[in-house]
Amino acid sequence: MKLPNYLADKWVAGSAPGTALVDPVTGDELARISSEGVDLHSALEFARTPGGPALRQLTYGQRAEMLAKIGEVLAANRDEYFRISLLNLGATQADASFDVDGALYTMKYYAKIGGALADGQMLKEGAALSLSKTGVFGGQHFLTPAKGVAVFINAFNFPAWGFCEKAAPALLSGVPIVVKPASPTAWLAHRMVEDVVKAGILPPGAITLVCGSAGGLLDHVREEDIVSFTGSADTAARVRSHTNVLRRSVRVNIEADSINSAILGPDGAAGRDLFELLVKEVLKEMSIKAGQKCTTIRRIFAPRPILKAFGEAVSSRLSTTKVGNPRNAEVKVGPVVNKAQQAACLEGLRKLRTECSVVFGGDEHFQPVDADSQRSAFVQPTVLLGNNGLASKYVHDVEVFGPVMTLIAYDSPKDLIPMVRRGSGSLVASVFSNDPGFLQEIVLGIGDLHGRIVAVDSTVGSQHTGHGNVVPSCLHGGPGRAGGGEELAGLRALLLYHRRFVVQGPVNYLKELSAPCADSNLLYS
Ligand code: NAP
Repeated sequence: MKLPNYLADKWVAGSAPGTALVDPVTGDELARISSEGVDLHSALEFARTPGGPALRQLTYGQRAEMLAKIGEVLAANRDEYFRISLLNLGATQADASFDVDGALYTMKYYAKIGGALADGQMLKEGAALSLSKTGVFGGQHFLTPAKGVAVFINAFNFPAWGFCEKAAPALLSGVPIVVKPASPTAWLAHRMVEDVVKAGILPPGAITLVCGSAGGLLDHVREEDIVSFTGSADTAARVRSHTNVLRRSVRVNIEADSINSAILGPDGAAGRDLFELLVKEVLKEMSIKAGQKCTTIRRIFAPRPILKAFGEAVSSRLSTTKVGNPRNAEVKVGPVVNKAQQAACLEGLRKLRTECSVVFGGDEHFQPVDADSQRSAFVQPTVLLGNNGLASKYVHDVEVFGPVMTLIAYDSPKDLIPMVRRGSGSLVASVFSNDPGFLQEIVLGIGDLHGRIVAVDSTVGSQHTGHGNVVPSCLHGGPGRAGGGEELAGLRALLLYHRRFVVQGPVNYLKELSAPCADSNLLYS
């Protein structure tokens, strides 16, 4: 089966045999994709016109209704998305739900909150400014939807959510989208786009799908376009420094990899609820998508006297956690996505082991449940103990994109904060403590280098949204190594797809221009 591209309102197959998509449990080939030889320049032109104008002649409210319809179509096909997730990602039910249900929820969320912007075709920002002595001449800032396309280059680990979390705010803004899923898992995004296209909800040109290599995609982007990239820091650097992107100052949003932290407070001794809560969170983070989340905990910081007990508690739970074929209902941890990712994980693990001791796992030849270890792509859940603190060469730098975490001891916030900061910019850190003073010190010490901080105390218990869970109402992104991008945060996400400009002119004209526009304050409500 060869999955075609969807360009300029037509399904077009690439000319090369293309890249094989495989089942990470059996190693069987499932499908092929190729973008070789397709006309990306014309596809982007078609998206800009007629796609863009057709979207922008609608109000925000009408586009929100469109998102609601997309949400319904996707929800109706949920079972098929779970089936593809099992085949192409080796996803357990929980893994598939995290991606697919997260995608559906995000689409429906934007359909709902988009209604707040019901009228007008642009947004008015702030009050009118007087710029003349008599008050006849003034200024008014506006946010207007970009007249280009939004190019989404996505990572392999969230084919469904990655598509929807970017598509919803872009379409709501009135910007046509070009979806380029990561090759190894493109089937799921392909199927979702196919369902949306078949449903005839979007005008021609509003959605484009490129399956296969990004090829020359970035050669064809222009000043009015937006590139929203999710993937590794290495590829991010290539995207950011692409000659055409630089020359035309194309707006680029980067969500890259991240060495995230979980911190157990000094009041989290064994037997305390905080200790148990973090053990539970660590197990969840190891299991869901086999640690293949950008937000997954990579480093666990615990007070020196508590660290050993914490490692033992996690190891004891891991020793009874079934790792293997997700078709077995007892399995909690599935494979990584393919042999290449397995090799990358094992290589990273070897680096970490040069300066860490193994607390649990680490067996490159372990036997997964109901799977042939030769053909499948599993990584044994592994807990390491970092022995070098801040001086570690790899622990704060190497993202093993699998179920691997490192325990690190700290003595006080004074040595803890520099170590957390050594991640050089992260998506998320979680702090488990009942001590408001400790929490305050950590938040003030690391906030500028994190996109999200999750604080859990005994009053919250297990009622938090989760270390690794991204909710559409809150910011997703992180500075520095994490890419410096910002996504979601409710309607704030629309800022990426709008341009700010000011009109200076007769105040009466400014009033007329502003009258149908919703207030951009709504983006922050
Ligand atoms: P990747 O290898 O960097 O690839 C990401 C995307 O970039 C893919 O669609 C890939 O296409 C494309 N690509 C590769 N080379 C390119 C180039 N020269 N120009 C333009 N596009 C290019 O990342 P991945 O292995 O798919 O994903 C795993 C990484 O993503 C992890 O490091 C993880 O931390 C990160 N991630 C971050 C977030 C976040 O929100 N911060 C979320 C999820 C994942 P092909 O697949 O066709 O090569």
